[in-house]
Amino acid sequence: MVDVSRLLFSFGVITDIQYADREDGMNFAQTRMRFYRKSLQCLDQAISYWNANEKTKFLLQLGDVIDGSCKRSDTSSECFQRLCQTFAKYRGHVAHCWGNHELYNFSREQLMASNCYSNVVLEGDVCASLEMIFATCSDLKDDQLCCYHFSPCEGFRFVVIDCYDISAHGRVESHPKCKQAAEFLSRMNPNHDQNDHRNASLPHHVKYNGSLSSQQIKWLESTLENSERKFEKVIISGHIPVHPEATGASTCLLWNYEEVLDVIDRHGCVVAYFAGHDHEGARKFRSSNGVHHCTFESVLEAVPASQGGNETAFATIDVYGDKMVIRGKGDIKSGVLTFR
Ligand SMILES: [Zn+2]
Repeated sequence: MVDVSRLLFSFGVITDIQYADREDGMNFAQTRMRFYRKSLQCLDQAISYWNANEKTKFLLQLGDVIDGSCKRSDTSSECFQRLCQTFAKYRGHVAHCWGNHELYNFSREQLMASNCYSNVVLEGDVCASLEMIFATCSDLKDDQLCCYHFSPCEGFRFVVIDCYDISAHGRVESHPKCKQAAEFLSRMNPNHDQNDHRNASLPHHVKYNGSLSSQQIKWLESTLENSERKFEKVIISGHIPVHPEATGASTCLLWNYEEVLDVIDRHGCVVAYFAGHDHEGARKFRSSNGVHHCTFESVLEAVPASQGGNETAFATIDVYGDKMVIRGKGDIKSGVLTFR
């Protein structure tokens, strides 16, 4: 009989740090303030908290570590370095997702050579006795995708997907995947600024989103099939939400979210999908298949306590045999995600 009351492991979550060495400013829609310098301090304080108070097995970083504006002010390298130095203070592994803002600043090649690529090895090289090995298949690694899976505890697997596989960012314009994205956007979004969703065929057909190639979808399917054979529970993570009701702003959705939802529906091992990208966050529980879709609140937009806000946004998640318990700090709401 499995003791479901026993804590199996914990991990930390933080998303959309979007650090830049610049003055605070409003978001694109002029609705929310962004605290660009403070977000790095918040990361630093979150890591100090985890190191001192929690036995987290790893951190899940859901993308957009530095802001696109660093590119314009020619501060990408120094800001990224400060960020990587802060992450290095964490006394464990960090599982990184890549968001659009990393790709505004750096090429995939540069990111793969950085500390924001979680030392991913090939699936065939994984030694079963080692824990926390990030693994992927050679085709996707050769294609410079940041997608991999790992098992922090027997019976559980995390799968990180690369939501900008097909996108306008991170590759040279002549790359077939960049061309594919440009062709898609030219059909779906007639605006001069294709980050603008007005007049687009659907609100999420904008340049700051992307999609999974058929090759990555196939890899996701086979990874989930392996997990099913091992009776594992799977948490999928990616920068962009894949459920329309797990995003308040209907613009923050994977271009081919329906395809990913279909894969999730066909594999009973999936218990949750975690995302960032939509700074306000949202949660949706699909009773039809028991999958929790959680979009976590951005630390960039956590209003300082001195201005009456919640100061920060990060969470520690405790995993049990029958549920995950989110213990949120600041803007991230606490809650229980019960497994079906
Ligand atoms: Zn984003």
